[in-house]
Amino acid sequence: MMKEEEIVDRIRELKEKRKAIILAHNYQIGEVQDVADFVGDSLQLSQKAAQIREAEVIVFCGVHFMAETAAILSPNKTILIPDIKAGCPMADMITSSELIEWKKRYPGRRAVCYVNTTAEVKAECDVCCTSSNALKVVDSVDGDEVLFAPDKNLAAYVARFTEKKIIPWDGYCYVHHRILLRHLKEKKRLYPKAEVWAHPECRPEVIDLSDKVLSTGKMIIEARKTEKKEIIVATETGIIYRMKKENPDKSFYPAKDMALCANMKKINLRKVLRSLEEMIYKIEVPYEISQKARGAIEKMIKIKGGKR
Ligand code: SF4
Repeated sequence: MMKEEEIVDRIRELKEKRKAIILAHNYQIGEVQDVADFVGDSLQLSQKAAQIREAEVIVFCGVHFMAETAAILSPNKTILIPDIKAGCPMADMITSSELIEWKKRYPGRRAVCYVNTTAEVKAECDVCCTSSNALKVVDSVDGDEVLFAPDKNLAAYVARFTEKKIIPWDGYCYVHHRILLRHLKEKKRLYPKAEVWAHPECRPEVIDLSDKVLSTGKMIIEARKTEKKEIIVATETGIIYRMKKENPDKSFYPAKDMALCANMKKINLRKVLRSLEEMIYKIEVPYEISQKARGAIEKMIKIKGGKR
């Protein structure tokens, strides 16, 4: 069996040979983050995939919808995901036919879809959003009522700040939804001086008890900037690896110890190596779906301003 250093060396050789780059989501396990060229949130990584001209192959260490988004934004590159079973249960909570039917029940309303959706769903929505720009996107669309899918918790968070009526889909991220108030209260008892940062996919009562509500990308930035020495983090615990690595003088505690996304943890170094060796698993989005989904993503990227 190959040792970890040998696997890393072989990955580096193959990366050069294939003109490949490795992108890893903030929730990936440490060894995968360490071998990646870039670590970030899903949209940052997809945009990075599109920007890097010299790369022909992108190994996307995240979940399926993220690799699809990279494929949509980089149609001329080969996009690989090291484990084809790494899906997102929240993205699977709404299908394109369900979205079409839902829109029919609410004629005239615009449909805003979180980037955590399949390419087929993106293709049927009016505009995409991320957790950090959701309010700006909702405020930018026409009409007083907006359909928002699939995350009801993110929808509830946006509803606190917009004057529009948000009609949410009944979806959620099981990892964030299972961070309960009692978990957070217990951590606050253990670390009374710590500030609390929550991801907007968390339940409203967890948000209420938080000092800051931040996307994963903004948590990484805030971790560098903050003067605080102790922070309780209400999101998937994989992000703490990077926060600690970049800020060894600060302590980061998970709001819930086992807030783990099983899908995000499916990829490991051996699978990254196999992906580069065998050029698996290729993510391809049919042309027509890709074009429509790209329109919804690009519309989001162009939206500037907003209240927050
Ligand atoms: S953490 Fe939640 S939203 Fe992210 S991939 Fe896992 S289930 Fe999906």
